[in-house]
Amino acid sequence: MAQEVCGVIAPGKNEPVRVETIVVPDPGPGEAVVKIQACGVCHTDLHYKQGGISDDFPFLLGHEAAGIVESVGEGVTDVAPGDFVILNWRAVCGNCRACLRGRPQYCFNTHNAKQKMTLASTGQELSPALGIGAFADKTLVAAGQCTKVDPTVSPAVAGLLGCGVMAGIGAAINTGNVGRGDTVAVIGCGGVGDAAIAGARLAGAARIIAVDIDDRKLEKALTMGATHTVNSKTSDAVEAIRELTGGFGADVVIEAVGRPETYKQAFYGRDLAGTVVLVGVPTPEMKLELPLLDVFGRGGSLKSSWYGDCLPSRDFPMLIDLHQQGRLDLGAFVTETVQLDEVEKAFERMHGGDVLRSVVVL
Ligand SMILES: [Zn+2]
Ligand SMILES: [Zn+2]
Repeated sequence: MAQEVCGVIAPGKNEPVRVETIVVPDPGPGEAVVKIQACGVCHTDLHYKQGGISDDFPFLLGHEAAGIVESVGEGVTDVAPGDFVILNWRAVCGNCRACLRGRPQYCFNTHNAKQKMTLASTGQELSPALGIGAFADKTLVAAGQCTKVDPTVSPAVAGLLGCGVMAGIGAAINTGNVGRGDTVAVIGCGGVGDAAIAGARLAGAARIIAVDIDDRKLEKALTMGATHTVNSKTSDAVEAIRELTGGFGADVVIEAVGRPETYKQAFYGRDLAGTVVLVGVPTPEMKLELPLLDVFGRGGSLKSSWYGDCLPSRDFPMLIDLHQQGRLDLGAFVTETVQLDEVEKAFERMHGGDVLRSVVVL
């Protein structure tokens, strides 16, 4: 039977979010209902509220979540009721061109639940953020969006791998292919940038340079694994990166801001034949201008990283295991835990740069 639960809704462009009663249908074929235990507050949720992603209001926000599978629909064999899972927004199809070529991390046909959750008051269909919608007691997803991990880990910590932290770690270890002894610079030290720093440390980088305009964020970056910091408000980021890398530039520069000026810092802050990874998300009006001769002459590779080029079934359990072994401190990303009705306040604190992650605990 369909269930009524509480969920955080963005009703219209720039309107404050609010808790409403939503209707969650029973899982159909290939679907699962998940009882949410924790869900991080991500910039993308704010972008949905601001109308920056689409106009399909009302949205059911939240997408960095962990919880327990409550029920599954027909034909679901990979997960079962009672499983502890992290929700992902890359449920690979297995049949598209990317999947068939053995590159499921680029799957073009990721899937979501077919049935819609609705608002109890009006019957309006909800658009779940990134096909998840997890600021809610329960949500309906495609079973492939559920990735089983070690159930002894805290849900508040596990959920973070569902989006921002995975994007940052993956930008370093998957997209940037950081290796032992590499020099790495990370521009922008919010949650994603700090995760890139943690990923670079995990991969064995010899030197990790954190670049930001906020000294508080640089302090935090040192605790996440940065070996050096550069305040790019008071010094030239490119010069400073070169100075710290014997005059050459870094092997891998990860741009976690998503602006043309910081992208140029990344481009010129890398060594010849080095790699730039763009993981920060730009806005539609931004344009990049670079001398094409420099693009050619400096060689190397310019890459973008979506979701850290992760394969959830491979990367989530592996990173949770490393966390459990004490080799990756995922807990350091949780600044505060909040209640379901505090998401609007959490957006304000995120906007002010005060938190890495607020996590809604249900
Ligand atoms: Zn596919
Ligand atoms: Zn996100």
